[in-house]
Amino acid sequence: MATIAFIGLGNMGGPMAANLVKAGHRVQVFDLQPEAVSRAAGTGCIPETSATEVVKQAQVVISMLQSGRQVDSLYLSGPEPLFQRLAPGTLVIDCSTIDATTAKATAERAAAHGLDFVDAPVSGGVAGAQAGTLTFIVGGAEAQFARAEPVLRQMGKNVFHAGPHGAGQMAKACNNMLLAVLMAGTCEALNMGINSGLDPKVLSEIIKQSSGNNWALQLYNPVPGVMENVPAARGYQGGFLVNLMCKDLNIAMDLSRDSGSPVPMGAAAKALFNLHQVAGHGGLDFSSLFRMFEQRKGGE
Ligand code: NAD
Repeated sequence: MATIAFIGLGNMGGPMAANLVKAGHRVQVFDLQPEAVSRAAGTGCIPETSATEVVKQAQVVISMLQSGRQVDSLYLSGPEPLFQRLAPGTLVIDCSTIDATTAKATAERAAAHGLDFVDAPVSGGVAGAQAGTLTFIVGGAEAQFARAEPVLRQMGKNVFHAGPHGAGQMAKACNNMLLAVLMAGTCEALNMGINSGLDPKVLSEIIKQSSGNNWALQLYNPVPGVMENVPAARGYQGGFLVNLMCKDLNIAMDLSRDSGSPVPMGAAAKALFNLHQVAGHGGLDFSSLFRMFEQRKGGE
């Protein structure tokens, strides 16, 4: 069993660290928010007071932060760049969803310090993090993937090697752009049904058994009262924030430009989530986009 440093204990990182404890590892944890560290201590993690403390004696470092800027600051450009503190040979797994350019640059700098770095963003939401059923999408060299895979399997069900450094982030950007399109489409279809007098529970069952079936409808219904244990059932609190979805759609738009790919559906979804964000809903789960449709009944 390994000594693992886990940095970033938010909606995703907290339950992921708890699953590593259950797998028998010594898991040292740190977050900028002390209450997140206390919560993790309650699940058997060992609380630490700084990023430099948390990595002491660690063979593996895992980060689960919000953005590329935070990842760059933690490892490279902040007041105490962590790469300077890690013993050569340390495995560094960044699970945050960030842009591929930052992931590749971080991997190059890690190599210069004798560290093994992989980008390993995840899919599966908070429920997947809690249940240990996440999908990991890894970018890195073959040998680095082989080192990271057994650790990731203790937090997830599927572990894919997408390609070299940055490939994990590129695949994740494609996935999340499609998720945004699916969630927006699911919201507008269910809202049209409700406005036409249909029961959203019955309509959801019908579409799940029909050709409009999708992940948002199956596991993350955006209409309050249809499903239990989803953000819509608790006022859209927790989950995957609108702010984070907007960040991911910006990453996807950059990728579409860099790869010369038309993304009209992704661009439409980005516009919708941006409107919802600037209306003051950035801190709600992304399925709260349903409210935007719900509040706009027209055509009479
Ligand atoms: P979150 O905001 O809940 O958690 C991020 C945590 O990182 C916060 O607690 C913050 O205090 C901490 N943090 C930031 N900088 C830090 C630093 N320098 N040192 C220590 N702690 C630091 O976010 P989340 O929902 O857990 O998402 C994390 C990442 O996973 C994001 O990139 C997101 O896009 C991605 N993601 C989220 C979901 C989801 O359903 N929430 C699903 C898949 C992927």
